[in-house]
Amino acid sequence: MPRVRFAPSPTGQLHLGNIKAAVINWLFARHHGGDFMLRIDDTDGGRSETAYEEDILRDLKWLGLRWDRFARQSERTERYAAAVEALKGQGRLYACYETQEELERKRGLQRAAGRPPVYDRAGLRLTDEQRAALEAEGRRPHWRFLLTQERVVWDDLVRGRQEVDAASLSDPVLIREDGRPLYTLSSTVDDGEFGITHVIRGEDHVANTAAQIQIFETLGHEAPAFGHFALLVDTDGAPLSKRAGSLTVAALREAGIEPVAIVSLLARLGTSKPVELFRSNGAAAEAFDLSAFGRAAARFDMAELQRLSAQFVHGLEPDEAARRLGDHRPAVLAIWEAVRGNLNSFDDFQGWIDRVEEAIVPTIEEPDYCADAAGLLPEGELDETSWKTWTDVLKAETGREGKALFLPLRLALTGREHGPEMQKLLPLIGRDRAVRRLRGETA
Ligand code: GLU
Repeated sequence: MPRVRFAPSPTGQLHLGNIKAAVINWLFARHHGGDFMLRIDDTDGGRSETAYEEDILRDLKWLGLRWDRFARQSERTERYAAAVEALKGQGRLYACYETQEELERKRGLQRAAGRPPVYDRAGLRLTDEQRAALEAEGRRPHWRFLLTQERVVWDDLVRGRQEVDAASLSDPVLIREDGRPLYTLSSTVDDGEFGITHVIRGEDHVANTAAQIQIFETLGHEAPAFGHFALLVDTDGAPLSKRAGSLTVAALREAGIEPVAIVSLLARLGTSKPVELFRSNGAAAEAFDLSAFGRAAARFDMAELQRLSAQFVHGLEPDEAARRLGDHRPAVLAIWEAVRGNLNSFDDFQGWIDRVEEAIVPTIEEPDYCADAAGLLPEGELDETSWKTWTDVLKAETGREGKALFLPLRLALTGREHGPEMQKLLPLIGRDRAVRRLRGETA
């Protein structure tokens, strides 16, 4: 059974770019009958905030991405300490004392000499006396993992075979000066101990993978399979993270975007398959295919998301709409049928109910025409044929046509320039209200 995880750092709001990992992992787990874990990567101390964690939980629930298991890295420090002991025991962790500035200077010199800026392992060569002297200066060590300088190979689920020469990498820092474990360690310990079988994440992490594979092996865990998908870019090809502020899950929710539209889009962006709307996350999971993802950048277009979202709304059956609104009156079902095809978001529905049932201030651009029109409304109860009958008469009587014929009526009857088909709205508004609105009364 596959076990996957989404591991956000609670340092900001979730946005489209970083929920792609959540969506893909959730779909993968559900498709294969696997297990989806939510892991909060909050070892960063200062930067991580509990408020952001709450936002993450809220956003994932809103997206309908329920997790089967939950962990918080800040509660697992003794596991990381045990791993540190194990790595030290195998001689794979060594103390280093350089400051950031010193490291920067070393890299500058290496670059100037045309060499890659790989850490020179100076820490490994320190004698006990040198270490003692550095500590006496008040320096605290950070700890690096000693990479085995060999080729690391994995079959990436998205990128295909990957080969990295570990000699081209700096030994990664696993423990900071203040003793806190860094992501490379804590993530590997957790993935190993929680039995994660597939690490599926953005390609910004591909550079961590070779070192993590060696750490898994050193800690006695079988390395999981890895898949690194392409990051989202906007329609100009710029990284989406630049626009993260306007594309937070919270902002999309506020804008009335349907969660299943987001899941549908992210299930297909960057794949060889066309984007299509799934009417439930379950349906998206059933059709999900990780192997369809490729290396080409995944272009996000807000208009495409809005279109999917509107398509979902248009397809809601009257009883679903009524349930969602918590209002089951027959009038609500009828109004839904009249307006649904015209809504950009479900939130607009209530506005149309109010426009039909509550008093509005009509917009009267041509009072004489509207007053005449009121007198020419068909006799009897209005139905879906009334609008045509009525406007045919008005056309014959006034010689008006097109916009001049229809728009003043729509404005008077709805107060809006655009909206659902008038033939459906007119009978819902009803004769009395229609006549009063056409006469310019608030009704
Ligand atoms: N906390 C890491 C991040 O948000 C997790 C990366 C990973 O999936 O390994 O980037």
